[in-house]
Amino acid sequence: MHEMGIANSVLEAVRTEMRRHPGTYPCKVGVRIGEMAAIDQDALRFCFEAMILETDLAALELAVEVCPRRHRCQACAHEFVVRDYDSRCPQCDSLASTCISGDELELAYLEVEEYEPSTAGTKSTQ
Ligand SMILES: [Zn+2]
Repeated sequence: MHEMGIANSVLEAVRTEMRRHPGTYPCKVGVRIGEMAAIDQDALRFCFEAMILETDLAALELAVEVCPRRHRCQACAHEFVVRDYDSRCPQCDSLASTCISGDELELAYLEVEEYEPSTAGTKSTQ
């Protein structure tokens, strides 16, 4: 499944990031997905939750931000958001435009919290 590989990449990125910040734990990860990447958000969330279940990242929350498709007009260099597959430039009506974003898939942010010295090494009871 496409989404399973993506969920795995996100987790890999989180773990890499955590190794750089010892003494903290991740509570929320944000990913940015272009609308053209054709990713099923529900499937991604499902895969993600299945993968962190019963691991040290079980409490990690996934936030998905969908980025619209953007084009740049080749005639007037105007940048615009493409809606309903209509890639005509709203400024000069030219049909010649280049896609500049909308297929990204990247880690947008990672929220971490520091372990309280008094609770270090103990598990959360929530
Ligand atoms: Zn134009």
